[in-house]
Amino acid sequence: MKISNYLSFSHLITSMTEIQQIKALLSSPKDVVILSHRNPDGDAIGSSLALGYFLKKLMHSVTIVFPSECPPMFDFLEGINDIIIYDLDQLAAKNAITKSKLIFFLDFNSLERIDRVGEMIHSSDSDKIMIDHHIDPEPIADFIISDTEASSTSEMVFKFIDDLGWTNKIDSRIGTSIFTGIITDTGSFKYNTRSYTYTVCSALKEKGVDDYSLQDRIFNALNEKHLRLLGHCLANRMEVNLEHGAAMIYLTKVDYKDFGISRGDTEGIVNYMLMIKGIEVAAFITEQPSIIKISLRSKGDINVQTLASTLFNGGGHRNASGGSYNGKLEDVIQKWKDVVPSIITKEIV
Ligand code: 5GP
Ligand code: MN
Repeated sequence: MKISNYLSFSHLITSMTEIQQIKALLSSPKDVVILSHRNPDGDAIGSSLALGYFLKKLMHSVTIVFPSECPPMFDFLEGINDIIIYDLDQLAAKNAITKSKLIFFLDFNSLERIDRVGEMIHSSDSDKIMIDHHIDPEPIADFIISDTEASSTSEMVFKFIDDLGWTNKIDSRIGTSIFTGIITDTGSFKYNTRSYTYTVCSALKEKGVDDYSLQDRIFNALNEKHLRLLGHCLANRMEVNLEHGAAMIYLTKVDYKDFGISRGDTEGIVNYMLMIKGIEVAAFITEQPSIIKISLRSKGDINVQTLASTLFNGGGHRNASGGSYNGKLEDVIQKWKDVVPSIITKEIV
């Protein structure tokens, strides 16, 4: 039985006519490229590998292209080393895109999220299919499968395969990739879940996914440097504003040098602030070589997506968003402090 047939909820995100059209596109083997966003996370990687394995089962020739490298913690995923990284091999990325007849956009909603790779897409006449769960997808694909209620793009890949009627092709390898995306984007089922998320995970466990081992590999993967950096952030760089339910951590360029931090090393630090009782919105502000990066997280109705897009030229989800700022770290910190009182009085949200 198709999983979606016995679900009580209904999110009609793609009509069955569109699914039939996509099925027709997939009916003969072709060169397919799967693209995901810069600084790929567990969901970008998991959804891409899962869809890639599935399409290979349909005899397509599949190349996955990411603008930048994957965090080493995902090295255990089979096939991750075959992903072409634009930053490391521009020619291979360009050749794959030029040769392709069909391109999937996974886990991003605007070409700005794939940087220079986006320019190649402009000149490509391949058919394009977007599968994504971010708010406000741009009209950059022939088929846009958008579901902002989905926990992750990986969950959507499961539904996509199920809608096509090919759930039986999901094996433990595809399932492992999907499960990875779901647990990374939900913080191990702590946020962004809906009943369908658990339905998918239940089906994946049936398919032989070793969920305990994945949880361990993904969430117990820190090294000493990460924990010491976390200690530094919490002890020396965190400012808590209980009156307005807000907290902030910032890192300077000097911190990056002193702790030998590279970008993925700060993953997850922003979430710690929400562990403080009474804190409902958190900002993690980092001074990158040429830009200031801002990560925002919130609880409940507080909409950090609006904040990220109005203040920091960014976007994302209601409770998890990000953006960037061209200017000084002090200016961003001040900008944040200025806006904090209005967040809680809900002038902005
Ligand atoms: P993070 O804070 O972990 O970098 O990102 C959280 C969420 O915000 C992700 O879903 C990501 O897609 C989104 N996001 C982060 N940075 C940016 C950005 O610069 N622009 C946009 N549009 N979204 C971002
Ligand atoms: Mn995602």
